[in-house]
Amino acid sequence: MVEIWINVMSAKEFDVIIVGAGPSGCSAALSLRNSGLKIAIFDKATFPRNKICGGALSLDVVNQLNKISPELYQNFSQFANKQPIDKIKITVPNDDSLVFSIEKSQKKGFVCNRLDFDNFLVNETKKCNNICFFENTKIVEYERKKDFYQIKSDDNEIYNAKILLVANGAYSNFNRKLSQSKVDKNNYSVAIQAFYENIKVENQNTLELYYLKETLPGYFWIFPTLDQKVNVGLGLLAKDITKNKINLKKLFGDILNKPEFKDRFSDAQKIGNLKSYGLPLGGSKKSLSGNRYLLLGDAASLIDPFLGEGIGNAIRSGRFAAEQVKKCFVDNYFSAKFNKNYDKIVYKSVHKEQKRYLFLQKMFRFPKIANISLKICKKTKLLNFFFGNVIELIK
Ligand SMILES: Cc1cc2nc3c(=O)[nH]c(=O)nc-3n(C[C@H](O)[C@H](O)[C@H](O)COP(=O)(O)OP(=O)(O)OC[C@H]3O[C@@H](n4cnc5c(N)ncnc54)[C@H](O)[C@@H]3O)c2cc1C
Repeated sequence: MVEIWINVMSAKEFDVIIVGAGPSGCSAALSLRNSGLKIAIFDKATFPRNKICGGALSLDVVNQLNKISPELYQNFSQFANKQPIDKIKITVPNDDSLVFSIEKSQKKGFVCNRLDFDNFLVNETKKCNNICFFENTKIVEYERKKDFYQIKSDDNEIYNAKILLVANGAYSNFNRKLSQSKVDKNNYSVAIQAFYENIKVENQNTLELYYLKETLPGYFWIFPTLDQKVNVGLGLLAKDITKNKINLKKLFGDILNKPEFKDRFSDAQKIGNLKSYGLPLGGSKKSLSGNRYLLLGDAASLIDPFLGEGIGNAIRSGRFAAEQVKKCFVDNYFSAKFNKNYDKIVYKSVHKEQKRYLFLQKMFRFPKIANISLKICKKTKLLNFFFGNVIELIK
């Protein structure tokens, strides 16, 4: 276990405990860096660690970093391990496609391997002297006491805090055991992803999304990353996988063998294994908080239900959680009722958009609608309605 102790007066007693040091947990910690509160952040992994992901960072992600602090944004701007995106290509089942590009002068989105992006956030977090960072430390038990939350780590250490921020992702053990916010199995995706080299790509700065009839409303993606490598993946709704008994790995192989991809992958080499992971999607409201705890990021099911983008909302929820934490300490009040303020702020910011994306997810179950939508996008200014999140990568 690696412990970095800086300015922590009383061992094992904290004001705030954050479980999970992904984008949501680190964003909450970074937003609390000047709060004067004693913070502990725990992650079961040792960083740098990878996370199964497409690694597409929309402009929303970049803007959220700026909202945490302009210095963080500056540091990210100077961070070299990211691939700028100039073009996005969307293809629908009838093979029609649309490519949109950006001016050189405009702000960009990026593809960034999660090994690098999360490590960037972790390193920024470790710089803060009111934050104690515990790696390789899994939190296995949670218990609410009268005036604090108590957690236990896998090495049997006990830690206490006035408030708990649950940022431990799609498979949150807190959610499974204690939260009232259960995962909605009808609005859940499963995706598989691997890195490749030697794939023929038209342009190392183009994101490619393929809405294929066998994946709808999900899609197959080819996202170029650094060093001529490519992030390739496939996401489907979990209920369709179950209902149609789909073997995702087999489907992935079948797609690579389709005439439109076969030649491009003929010399491809897979780096590591094809791995799968769950995506708890947003779109319907659920409880995001309770007495002395708040749920963040994937633990709060905030992933965009159409495109699967979750990093922007993970960071946003980290920011909002930090604001709520500050209010709790000002008022010395941590009740479930008071914390509903956090739910309101999160949903005020994301719910309207997520409802629209849930609607589109339902529409894109039908190949004809996907085809017509692309046609409409080509002829009208409705591109933003359909692919606003993707466009944010480039606008
Ligand atoms: C295949 C796939 C592709 C995706 N592609 C994209 C994309 O291109 N763009 C995008 O914006 N989003 C994408 N997403 C969604 C994105 O990955 C998530 O929304 C984002 O990672 C959520 O951040 P988080 O901080 O909430 O959780 P996570 O990033 O999952 O971080 C949770 C952290 O908690 C730690 N942890 C878990 N349990 C414990 C425990 N008990 N104790 C201590 N630590 C614990 C984990 O080690 C981890 O570091 C994708 C998701 C998948 C599965």
